[in-house]
Amino acid sequence: MKRVVVGLDIGGTKFMVAAADPASLTVIQQVKEPAPEGLDDGLERLHAMISRVTTGATIAGIGAAVGGPLDWRMGVVSPLHQPAWRNVPLAAIMQERWKAPFRCDVDTNVAALGEHRLGGHAGNRLLYLTLSTGMGGGLIVDGRIYRGGLGGAHPEVGHQSIPFRCRHPECVRCECGAPDCLEALVSGNSIRRIYGKPAEKLNDDEWAEVAWNLGQGLRNMAALYAPDVIVIGGGLAQQGERLIGPARQIMADHLKIVPAPQVVVSRLGYDTALKGALVLAGEAAKPTSEIT
Ligand SMILES: [Zn+2]
Repeated sequence: MKRVVVGLDIGGTKFMVAAADPASLTVIQQVKEPAPEGLDDGLERLHAMISRVTTGATIAGIGAAVGGPLDWRMGVVSPLHQPAWRNVPLAAIMQERWKAPFRCDVDTNVAALGEHRLGGHAGNRLLYLTLSTGMGGGLIVDGRIYRGGLGGAHPEVGHQSIPFRCRHPECVRCECGAPDCLEALVSGNSIRRIYGKPAEKLNDDEWAEVAWNLGQGLRNMAALYAPDVIVIGGGLAQQGERLIGPARQIMADHLKIVPAPQVVVSRLGYDTALKGALVLAGEAAKPTSEIT
């Protein structure tokens, strides 16, 4: 019987599910649906979507990208963007229903994994940033997800302090409570709060501020991690070189000792986390797979 691996991207407003060839991870079938509000409805919908993409094939492994917080070792998830999902034993539920090994991780980690394995970037140290309504990131070191200590804390690149430029400093407020976070200056929600309009409507001077601030964040990250490449995804990345170009230049101008990494827009687009979930599924499917 045909074997497939299955990837799940469990977002706040939509679910995406794909089945792929276990060796090449080439997508065979992919579906997208709105995310229901309730937990039972959400799980039912995921199961139905898995049925649809697998069409009776044997499932060799399932991987999932989920919003944090979560316990990736135990596969227990409590995504902030799904208020009805608290301490959900997703690994146990999926393994019981589909009789297949399961792995999940924080969506930005999974997206970083997807970019690293399938995005066509050079090097083994990749930092992935998502810039959308909020901001997050994932770091790949020597081909593996970098994890924090303290029981598996997830590093939060959006909450680094930067020397910012802003014409409305009274509007710079991070949801975490700190006064000068990168996220509070460059995320979609922050841009709306500061400038009173969406990113695509900013004028050149306002863009220059956003690019300066993002460039300072990139400079810090490059100085601390010295990655081969920084990949930027999420809705704001669709602004492309208009945003990335000046930010890359500001990063390079302020990096004096560490070489400047490449800074590129994601090539996987909205499927980055889903593709990463397929990579996780492929790892779960390996007979010698160990959780590290
Ligand atoms: Zn913050």
